[in-house]
Amino acid sequence: MTAGVLSVFMEDGHGHAASTDSAPAGVIWDVLVVGAGPAGSSAARVAAEGGASVLLVDRARFPRYKTCGGGLIGLSLAYLPASVLPTVEPQVREVRFSLRGGRPKSFSRSLPFLALMQREKFDDALMKAAVAVGVRFEESVVVKAVQEADGLVTVTTDGASLHARIVIGADGTSGRIGRYVGVQNRGTDLALEVELTRTPESPAYDGAIAFDWGTAPGSYAWVFPKDEVLTVGVIQARGEPQQTHDYLDRWLRTTGLEAHAVERSSGHLTQWRAPDSPLHRGSVLVAGDAAGLLDPWTREGLSYALRSGCWAGEAAADATRGSDRAIAEYSRRILAQLDPDIRAGERLLRFFERYPRLVHLALAYTSTGMRLFLAVCDGTKTLGGILSHRLLGRALRVLGS
Ligand SMILES: Cc1cc2nc3c(=O)[nH]c(=O)nc-3n(C[C@H](O)[C@H](O)[C@H](O)COP(=O)(O)OP(=O)(O)OC[C@H]3O[C@@H](n4cnc5c(N)ncnc54)[C@H](O)[C@@H]3O)c2cc1C
Repeated sequence: MTAGVLSVFMEDGHGHAASTDSAPAGVIWDVLVVGAGPAGSSAARVAAEGGASVLLVDRARFPRYKTCGGGLIGLSLAYLPASVLPTVEPQVREVRFSLRGGRPKSFSRSLPFLALMQREKFDDALMKAAVAVGVRFEESVVVKAVQEADGLVTVTTDGASLHARIVIGADGTSGRIGRYVGVQNRGTDLALEVELTRTPESPAYDGAIAFDWGTAPGSYAWVFPKDEVLTVGVIQARGEPQQTHDYLDRWLRTTGLEAHAVERSSGHLTQWRAPDSPLHRGSVLVAGDAAGLLDPWTREGLSYALRSGCWAGEAAADATRGSDRAIAEYSRRILAQLDPDIRAGERLLRFFERYPRLVHLALAYTSTGMRLFLAVCDGTKTLGGILSHRLLGRALRVLGS
């Protein structure tokens, strides 16, 4: 579908007709979702399942690429519809940890502990799962502005004005809706990634991921092997782009992958919310990266995007059915269930910035560290849960402050 189809919304039967005199002419959707990444497509699907008429728009044409490692922890898997599962490659049985390009220490387990996927396929399948339950999807639609008046939200795109009772902003780190809502982020990182062609001569990464803890405070690097490509990347606090590039070059040499054909090279920001950052403004909610929902230490964001997306969709459907508490309840749910893990990740990041060697030793050389790493990957423990252990939490606070 193209943006041109927007002009026929008034005639088609997907939206509900305007029901108040003050409403502008044209279709009024129950829910309009901006951004068809994991957060947006999940929100749209769940809102439609809850009985709402839903329009989902994205500025990209699908399937679209997103710079991402594509690592899915157990918590993420629990929020996926069955039709998306075939895009998931659940094969990681080994992890290798190194410090500043040094000798890696590896650990393996017969049961896979992490799933990987390629975002083009994964996001496309999530969007199609939304369409399958009645969501209308429009690609190549760039949202420029949003405003709310008289109980109606108007979203201005590059080609039209769209109207909805509830808007969910899931437009990622560079989107417009977060700015409208007033999202405040506490930290921003720059990540650089290359997708390398896999060849029979590729160093053996079958079923094995690798992490390296870098020289710059809080930085790390990874190799995530997919069926078709090797995803290799680095991340560190934004502000030293040359240093970040140099780290990627060094990491490619360290791993012996520097001569591989680069299919794609890209960069993207990650960011995480300040504790008092809003999660909605009036009838406009934010979810996923747009809300700064991401673990500050591992920069794992998919489980946050999927969970917040599903919950935003649920809240939006409830609100259109008349609940006047649903939107405030969404904020409370995020604060109660996701924010504690973000704060724990922040504490771990501060600790890791000061003591990378200690973190490396704990993870790679102690059975407790490895057990906790695997539990987070499996989805049986969260960072918040781990740091709620009184002694551990206190030790981190003292050492990291
Ligand atoms: C290099 C890197 C590696 C990562 N690796 C992992 C990992 O291995 N595991 C993990 O869990 N997390 C990882 N993350 C984080 C993860 O990628 C994000 O948290 C996740 O993509 C968030 O999903 P989302 O749906 O909120 O946003 P996105 O996936 O960014 O989707 C936002 C959508 O909004 C659309 N959009 C933006 N602006 C507009 C507009 N104005 N109008 C219309 N549409 C718009 C975009 O086209 C996009 O499709 C990584 C991040 C980076 C940068």
